[in-house]
Amino acid sequence: MAAHVTIAKIEDLADPNDRGWILIQNSDTKQREVYLRCPVCGALRAMTDHQISAAGVVHPSILCADCGYHVFGRLADWESAP
Ligand SMILES: [Zn+2]
Repeated sequence: MAAHVTIAKIEDLADPNDRGWILIQNSDTKQREVYLRCPVCGALRAMTDHQISAAGVVHPSILCADCGYHVFGRLADWESAP
């Protein structure tokens, strides 16, 4: 099994240099969706095609369509997400 890269949690979405994952509530559905800001290029997109385990492991692997960043990731502090 591949080693997982730990993806930090974004604390300040307004800071473009604060990169990692964050929960954002969809204004239409009221569902909270996981977004990832690419650590390399900063592109922000919803991880709608991914499943996240209770331990924060993301499946399938994370692939940035903008820059090609590709990792097997685990979301830091996922267990404590509200
Ligand atoms: Zn990227």
